[in-house]
Amino acid sequence: MQIDEFPGLQVDDFRIRETQPQLSLCLLTHMHSDHLSGLERLSYHSPPVYCSAATRAMVLNLRHNNGDGPLKYHHLRKEGGGIEILQALDVGIPHQLTCQSRTVQVTLIPTVHCPGATMFLVDDGNTAILFTGDIRCEAWHVNALSHHPALLPFTLGQAISLYVDNTFEQHDNPDQHYDENSVGVAELLATIDSDNTKYPDNIHFALVASSTGYEEALIALALRFQTKIHLDSYYYHCYMAAADTCPLARQIIGLSTINPASARVHWCRKGHCENRDGPLTIYLSPRVTMSQSDIDERNRKLDIRDFPGGTYNEQTLFVHTESAIRYVLSQDGHTLLPGHIYFKFSRHASLPELVHFKAMFPACTVKSLAGEPIPQLDPDAVVQLKIYRKKAWSTPVTAVKRKMSVHSSTESNGDILDFLHQQAQESSLSTPPASPRKDSVRTAEPSIESTSNESKVLEETLRNNLDEWFNLKFDWKNSPIYGYK
Ligand SMILES: [Zn+2]
Ligand SMILES: [Zn+2]
Repeated sequence: MQIDEFPGLQVDDFRIRETQPQLSLCLLTHMHSDHLSGLERLSYHSPPVYCSAATRAMVLNLRHNNGDGPLKYHHLRKEGGGIEILQALDVGIPHQLTCQSRTVQVTLIPTVHCPGATMFLVDDGNTAILFTGDIRCEAWHVNALSHHPALLPFTLGQAISLYVDNTFEQHDNPDQHYDENSVGVAELLATIDSDNTKYPDNIHFALVASSTGYEEALIALALRFQTKIHLDSYYYHCYMAAADTCPLARQIIGLSTINPASARVHWCRKGHCENRDGPLTIYLSPRVTMSQSDIDERNRKLDIRDFPGGTYNEQTLFVHTESAIRYVLSQDGHTLLPGHIYFKFSRHASLPELVHFKAMFPACTVKSLAGEPIPQLDPDAVVQLKIYRKKAWSTPVTAVKRKMSVHSSTESNGDILDFLHQQAQESSLSTPPASPRKDSVRTAEPSIESTSNESKVLEETLRNNLDEWFNLKFDWKNSPIYGYK
């Protein structure tokens, strides 16, 4: 889409529209097909498209015909000294690029969505945007982002436009809270493999989902069952290409095989594997909008003595006559286990998660990834922000917001240290009189003693604030799951 703040900048979806300014700078957040539209038309006349090394490797290795055909984006490769259209940028450090004669700094920040996915911070010193692309915003990730060095000026209050993933709006209940994916995966494992109800050893498990982003569930299943993951050629080429630059892809490759007979967990497409479509396959479906009671009902186990009627075949598969739900007889022969298991998992953020994410940025405007306003995240939601804000500037959000609007209008390019000084001064001067020492700070004609007290208070506040913000508790470069080379 086009970015209003930077004419000529296009992030994802590179289809050409007649009314848009000429493309000058292109950024790609991740490798899912709905974000790649238009890439097939780009040529060496187009500006380069920048993305992470893992995304580049995966896109260049996507093939037609579900992985069996020729390369889909072969023309984006460098050929015989030609121009490389799809180019990788290192994650986490600012890169100086040009957008219609403006010099802009572009920083890639890893997101939780699929291997290689990043958001983009674009900043020319006066104007800044953060384009999240598709993103899950679990609390641990938002809290880690609040310590990210590149975002520091904006978490401290410099103005920024946020383009955020608004997939939640497509659901019937857009206010719904999502459990973290690790909770859904733990419940899935408990459903499959509790102490007294185990599936027979000849049963296979197939993930029913589209495209990448479910690696956490696949890895957990493979480790629990001590089995390989069968990948079809489409996924195998994807993960293999990114294994050098993305730890998550490397982990999947280490646990996978292309031989369907040597795996019990399947991440392969329908029609590409006899075990995925066989009679002894349990389907695993991620769901985010399903209520807990619906999930419990669908995953219900039945005592064989209570089975109300149905058909039974010689391969231990039962089908309930009325509901047509499939069951499998447990190893001990006492329990009927569901043939299709649903579990909570989402690659996109919930509304409460986005409120938490937005609260990191005291002076921001929010738009959807299509550039539309998002009513649920408008400025009137300030009261809500206080509820979800977990890691924040020491003064309340509303106060910071008010102060920043003054700051922005008087000195939009202000230095961070100047701003911290200003904040510290304002907060110390507005502190209610609680002790003789603080009273002296508030005296209109300060004595020598009160001046030194005031500077002490300022210094202390400044030091505390800096300690808080520079105390980086999250090592982005070496994050075990989402780190990148
Ligand atoms: Zn996506
Ligand atoms: Zn398979």
